[in-house]
Amino acid sequence: MAFYGAKAIPEGGWWSMPQPSGDGFLIIGDSAGTLNSQRLKGIHLGMKSGMLAAETIFEGLKAGGVTPERLSAYSGKIESSWVREELWPVRNFHQAFDHGLVAGMAQAGIGLVTGGRGWGVRDRVETTPGHTRMVRLDSPEGKHLTPPAPLKMDGELTFDRLADVYHSGTTHNEDQPVHLLVHDTSICVERCTVEFANPCQRFCPAAVYEMVPDATTPAGRRLQINASNCVHCKTCDIMDPYGIITWVPPEGGDGPNYSKL
Ligand code: SF4
Repeated sequence: MAFYGAKAIPEGGWWSMPQPSGDGFLIIGDSAGTLNSQRLKGIHLGMKSGMLAAETIFEGLKAGGVTPERLSAYSGKIESSWVREELWPVRNFHQAFDHGLVAGMAQAGIGLVTGGRGWGVRDRVETTPGHTRMVRLDSPEGKHLTPPAPLKMDGELTFDRLADVYHSGTTHNEDQPVHLLVHDTSICVERCTVEFANPCQRFCPAAVYEMVPDATTPAGRRLQINASNCVHCKTCDIMDPYGIITWVPPEGGDGPNYSKL
């Protein structure tokens, strides 16, 4: 029996962590960016952030209510816990590789040896979102690109994406509102086809996005969203070159069933 799953990891590290509290909410785990991208581990950090959030809420309740001011203590708890102690030394690990493997290894090595202190290691290595580094077909670099040949799957060790969706145990109510919001599908048809060859058709691991022929549209094609296939990896929200896709939680907790992963 085969099993399948996909997940985009929040590898931005310490510098990409959002403000973790607000009016009526605390952000924990992957949503708070508590992943050690050097070790590719984060469950323990996610659990610790959940424990700190629970403590914050409990203290707020004891004091008379979870006001935004009381919830803001959560940020300080993260700062003074071993979550920061673990994430701070590797805060530039991922960004260091923006300038190539050698530069990345040198920078990451210095950071490791010094525990992220001194030796010319800058406090913050600037980076850019991954989708801004996608190569445009009309750029000098992109003009020489050719589409990759389709991969051949043997159905025993390797599977096509629809078989993989089946192996992920994904279920969605077919009638529920689409949980993938594409804010302007004319961009997909008119610009993305020419500039990036609709990469959503390839980076989505669940064959959710398809450009299909449609004689009723001026361009003769349209974007079809097979939302019930979605395995909730969130790649499309991150990598769409125009930033027009928003992933929202589906109705009723539907989605993949990762029973043995
Ligand atoms: Fe992942 Fe988006 Fe495809 Fe869903 S639609 S599987 S979130 S890339």
